[in-house]
Amino acid sequence: MMNESAKIYLVGTGPGDPDLLTVKALRLLQNADVVIYDRLVSEGILQQIPAGVSKIYVGKKSGNHTLPQDEINQLLLNLADTERTIVRLKGGDPFIFGRGSEEALLLAQHDIQFEIVPGITAASACTTYAGIPLTHRGLSQGVQMITGHSQSDKPLTLDWKSLADENKTIVIYMGLTNIKFIAENLMKAGLDKNTPAAAVQNGTTFRQYCVLTTLAKLDSDCTALQAPVIFVIGKVVALAEKLDWFETDNAIESDFSDNKQSLRG
Ligand code: SAH
Repeated sequence: MMNESAKIYLVGTGPGDPDLLTVKALRLLQNADVVIYDRLVSEGILQQIPAGVSKIYVGKKSGNHTLPQDEINQLLLNLADTERTIVRLKGGDPFIFGRGSEEALLLAQHDIQFEIVPGITAASACTTYAGIPLTHRGLSQGVQMITGHSQSDKPLTLDWKSLADENKTIVIYMGLTNIKFIAENLMKAGLDKNTPAAAVQNGTTFRQYCVLTTLAKLDSDCTALQAPVIFVIGKVVALAEKLDWFETDNAIESDFSDNKQSLRG
């Protein structure tokens, strides 16, 4: 017998700074019966959850991969049987490289009620906090957001020709492992080696660290970085020198639950 009062909220938290939660996300956190979260949900965000609400971690444990998606799915289905307001938190936006749509399809298939709450995605927030506008008149006419991670260790196949457009900004999620390969292919496809490029690590948190470089040096300048890192390539990156405004000293002391691991992503 299905629990008809159950509702699952797939909620984007933004990329780390708890001040970037939406009002709706905050309200849901304060009214949840149970909260499920993974690695890219920062501590400052978890602190918004009232004491006594159960919190279930489904992120990466030392050396292991994330709880397999089918186990997360089963957990969601089980909770829908017993709980009422279930909040499934996701870093950034649930529908951008967040598998939010896979989970929503599962809920739809099982006739479980759900709502999806968008969040500020890393491409938007981390660049803004680094003083990099994604578009700028005369410099960038658009944005291409891509994943730098290939599925189950298959080679990364991207449309390099269409990506190598000097009038568009490229943002790469999950690119640490493949950044050398990505930069080389973009140059081979015609993107100038001096194109400004940046990496933002732990964006929007008090540990934000930004590398400003060029496409040719992106890989060698980023070897010491650890996930989460987002890469930005394009002429707009040059504006960071003037627009860099975020002072980590004044930021809320909050970062990711277990980002001390050397997960490359
Ligand atoms: N749904 C998320 C993305 C999940 S994929 C979103 O919309 O932002 C995970 C990747 O997002 C990381 O590998 C990294 O490339 C990027 N990312 C997320 N949070 C970040 C942060 N605070 N700083 C830098 N990169 C971040």
